[in-house]
Amino acid sequence: MNRLAGKVALVTGAGRGIGAAIARAFAAEGAAVLLAELDTDAGEASRDAIQREHAGARVMAHRTDVTDAASVRDAVAAAEDAFGPIDVLVNNAGINVFCDPLTMTDDDWRRCFAVDLDGVWNGCRAVLPGMVERGRGSIVNIASTHAFKIIPGCFPYPVAKHGVIGLTRALGIEYAARQVRVNAIAPGYIETQLTHEWWNAQPDAEAARRATLALQPMKRIGQPEEVAMTAVFLASDEAPFINASCITVDGGRSALYHD
Ligand code: NDP
Repeated sequence: MNRLAGKVALVTGAGRGIGAAIARAFAAEGAAVLLAELDTDAGEASRDAIQREHAGARVMAHRTDVTDAASVRDAVAAAEDAFGPIDVLVNNAGINVFCDPLTMTDDDWRRCFAVDLDGVWNGCRAVLPGMVERGRGSIVNIASTHAFKIIPGCFPYPVAKHGVIGLTRALGIEYAARQVRVNAIAPGYIETQLTHEWWNAQPDAEAARRATLALQPMKRIGQPEEVAMTAVFLASDEAPFINASCITVDGGRSALYHD
């Protein structure tokens, strides 16, 4: 249980869902973790839950808006003041913006890119100078299977997530010689508030849930902890030669052509 012992990590959007699960898994593996979360109450609740579960865990919550580069820099400074240089960054914060392309507003477009792509870049830009100087670091970007598969009516979220893969590959290559690894995880359907909100937005939420399950080769959707296990692996020293890559965590769904 010490796969991240001695490491300092920052996880964005760690107040709930996949980000909270990653922060919890990191703390369980011995990392000191800063939970960079927009919603102060959610960030603090997530921190308290980790501390209850893992006595002595080094975790702190810091209000952070990933769309604001200065706010992300503040979070990095707070983590470094409290725990030391950042070894691991997880750019997890993300929002669903699912529109029809031609009725989407300019605001929908900007909101999506501000969080889902600019937010990832703001995180990378804030930690990379230190990682490059120290000659070590692991960045894990939470993309989506929308980064390479399209579902009609979900625009422009997949456009931003395609961008996250591009950013991952570009930065992974740019800093490879400095031993800074940049990878992505592409989750499929994972049970979080985001998924429940999507089902609830459909005319028949229960029918939408059943339809989603029926699409899954494993006849279930994933749990946030199942994404967190992959994040631990990529963040750890068990993945030293994995760089500029994306690991899909979707129970096989994106490999399926037809039932
Ligand atoms: P949730 O909505 O459950 O959690 C996202 C968290 O990010 C929330 O705590 C939210 O805070 C926070 N957040 C939102 N905007 C910002 C911001 N500007 N700055 C800082 N924090 C912010 O989402 P999931 O856990 O489901 O998703 C996490 C990531 O995984 C996202 O990038 C998503 O695109 C991706 N993903 C999720 C899948 C799924 O099926 N769940 C599938 C594929 C990818 P607040 O409460 O204040 O909004």
